[in-house]
Amino acid sequence: MEYGKVTEKILNDLIAICGAAHVISSRELLENYSHDYTEDLKYYPEVAVKPVTAVEISKIMLLCNKHHIPATPRGAGTGLSGGALPVFGGIIISMERFNKIFEIDEWNLQATVEPGVINQVFQDAIMEKVCFIP
Ligand SMILES: Cc1cc2nc3c(=O)[nH]c(=O)nc-3n(C[C@H](O)[C@H](O)[C@H](O)COP(=O)(O)OP(=O)(O)OC[C@H]3O[C@@H](n4cnc5c(N)ncnc54)[C@H](O)[C@@H]3O)c2cc1C
Repeated sequence: MEYGKVTEKILNDLIAICGAAHVISSRELLENYSHDYTEDLKYYPEVAVKPVTAVEISKIMLLCNKHHIPATPRGAGTGLSGGALPVFGGIIISMERFNKIFEIDEWNLQATVEPGVINQVFQDAIMEKVCFIP
C-alpha cells in the first residue's frame, strides 16, 4: 500500500493545530519516538506531534486521512510488542500531554484518567487513598 508523505504544507498544518512547540521534526529529537521497549527495532516517524485536546487529535486524524498518512498513537513507549513503532513512517501522535487524573473512586475501585498518565504518578495518587494497582 502506498502512503502519503508529510510535506512542508502538512507540517505547517500540524503546527497550526498543535503549536510549533508541540510538533517535532528534527531527526535528532525524533530518535526518542523511533523505538519503544521492543528490542532492537527502530523506525523513524516523519514527524511527532503532541496534541492536548480531543479536538486537536480529530484535526490531526482528518489531515492524515485526507493525505493517506500513517498515524501511530504513543503513550510512554514502554510497550514490549512494537505497537508504538511507526513502521510505515508518518506521524506519531504522542499522548504525553494527556496527563490528567480526573477522579479516583476508591469505593468502587474505579479511576478516570487520561491516557498519558504515567503509571508511577497514578500509583502515587491512589496510594493517598490507600489503594494500589498490583
Ligand atoms: C521493564 C518493563 C516492565 C513491564 N512490566 C509490565 C507489567 O508488569 N505488566 C504489564 O501489563 N505490562 C508491563 N510492561 C509493558 C508496558 O509497560 C505496557 O505495555 C504499557 O502499559 C504500555 O504503555 P505505554 O503508554 O508505554 O504504551 P506504548 O508503548 O506507547 O503504546 C502501546 C500500544 O498502545 C497504542 N496506544 C498508546 N496510546 C494510545 C491511545 N491513547 N489510544 C490508542 N492507542 C494507544 C500504541 O500505538 C501501541 O500500539 C512492562 C514494560 C517494561 C519495559
